Amino acid sequence: MDYRLTQYDSFNFSTLQNSKTNISNLIDTRVRNKIKKGEHYEKICIKNGSYYTLFVNAYDSKCAYCGITTDIISTGLFEIDHFINKTQKFLSSGISVNNVENLVFSCRNCNQAKHDYNTSEIYELLHPDNDSITNIFVRSDTYGIYVREEYRDNTLITGFYKKLHLDSSFRKLDYLLMNLKAMSKIDTKRELNHLILRLYTDLLEMRNRYI
Ligand SMILES: [Zn+2]
Repeated sequence: MDYRLTQYDSFNFSTLQNSKTNISNLIDTRVRNKIKKGEHYEKICIKNGSYYTLFVNAYDSKCAYCGITTDIISTGLFEIDHFINKTQKFLSSGISVNNVENLVFSCRNCNQAKHDYNTSEIYELLHPDNDSITNIFVRSDTYGIYVREEYRDNTLITGFYKKLHLDSSFRKLDYLLMNLKAMSKIDTKRELNHLILRLYTDLLEMRNRYI
């Protein structure tokens, strides 16, 4: 089970590659300067632009690191992260860090906490479009996110986990909010739906008071 999803979600992060390839093709066919091909960031980061919208939809409006959605925090609090940070300029494959492959839809909390963390050596393991991240970070029965035991000696992984505050209590609160929001969308019984929405509103207010 993907720690970023609730049991009500049908989205699968590993299927978003096709949508990202389509965005990349759309941009590159309209670029005449060969040097600019593959430099997707400046086109995608224009908020409310058509590429930005396609990019957000590719990620189902979910932060690729913690799973929070634009249902819960406003769209303005989301950013486009460079998985390999901008100072490195190129991925090990030689493509630009501004290529869509390296760009990730992220909430501001995760993106700003991650900042310039060096992910070069953990690219395959932790790039959030890859399935492997869901075998490393796991959701506990008490809603927190933890690192699976066999990866706890890997300081690059535990460093990433701590840097992004994936161990923080507000991740639990966000997960409860995600569940309540999803439940309120599928439940049809009026009374229960009303109760869920009330709980959701109270929790959201509490969350925003602390963050
Ligand atoms: Zn996040």
